[in-house]
Amino acid sequence: MNYTEKSLLALPLEYKKNKQEIEQCFKKLKKKKPKKLDTIVHELDSEVFENIDCLACANCCKTLGPRITYVDIKRLAKYLKIKPSEFSTIYLTIDEDGDYVFKTMPCPFLMPDNYCMVYNSRPKACREYPHTDRKRFYQLLSLTEKNLDVCPAVMEISKAIVKAFD
Ligand code: SF4
Ligand code: SF4
Repeated sequence: MNYTEKSLLALPLEYKKNKQEIEQCFKKLKKKKPKKLDTIVHELDSEVFENIDCLACANCCKTLGPRITYVDIKRLAKYLKIKPSEFSTIYLTIDEDGDYVFKTMPCPFLMPDNYCMVYNSRPKACREYPHTDRKRFYQLLSLTEKNLDVCPAVMEISKAIVKAFD
């Protein structure tokens, strides 16, 4: 079993153990908005993703429905050589926030070996997940909390943020 599979298996326990401490730390960071937060988080993002193999995980593709924009629909439909309206009819539904999301999860484009069938044309939300390399990370702390029980990389990065700002 590789490092990612172990991290994924341990995630529910890690979540239970660390959730409160991480949320307390993030609460302070949301107020203080430290200047060095982005630099620290981006370094942690690089370090953690050097050791995490997303192909051994794919938990985001199995459990989270990415928000799909019209630009995504046009790009994906072109890749699949169908009309955008056909793409929407076959694959999409509208969620309670009025956003397009996949009708079914795991994602219809996730293959059995965890590769993405539409990788080069995948939605923007998939490209950006889990957002730990974004600027003004203090704005993403609440979203990061929501990803703690989904993404083992987010858990590792968040534990390290707590240590860095202890
Ligand atoms: S981004 Fe996180 S949840 Fe998604 S495959 Fe990689 S480690 Fe898993
Ligand atoms: S489109 Fe690809 S990257 Fe996005 S959820 Fe589906 S399988 Fe994952």
